[in-house]
Amino acid sequence: MTERTFSILKPDATERNLTGKINAMIEDAGLRIVAQRRIRLTEAQAKKFYEVHKERPFYGELVAQMTAQPVVVQVLEGENAVARYREVMGATNPADAAAGTIRKAFAKNVGENSVHGSDSQENAKIEIAQFFTEADIPG
Ligand code: ADP
Ligand code: MG
Repeated sequence: MTERTFSILKPDATERNLTGKINAMIEDAGLRIVAQRRIRLTEAQAKKFYEVHKERPFYGELVAQMTAQPVVVQVLEGENAVARYREVMGATNPADAAAGTIRKAFAKNVGENSVHGSDSQENAKIEIAQFFTEADIPG
């Protein structure tokens, strides 16, 4: 089924000029970038986005990292896009990520791991709505 997922190219990726290389891996995986914008996340936006992790010891560091440099927020579309993108991203910790994945290729460490991708269709809808309206996503 064709569906959408939400993606962020994180500060460690934009800082190293990896936007194009990561987008090529996304497109080569059969996912279409149907909306994309480069923005600087505010602290409030980053805190809200990662609210589920607020009790974790790395929350403060994560919010600091996510606001340190611009990010690229994206909507990806394709067959089973949520699961497909998680596959292409690879494991959260690049030490555990499979060969050929974005995180294996580019992530610096478990925190600065280059990309975010939604973990469910429900969260994809919620996350997309935090940054895009339907008018931003041409059909
Ligand atoms: P994922 O991004 O693969 O869905 P999680 O939802 O578990 O991973 O975590 C969200 C983000 O929090 C990770 O992508 C990473 O940037 C950061 N993070 C997760 N675990 C750790 C950790 N043990 N130490 C530092 N940062 C972490
Ligand atoms: Mg997650």
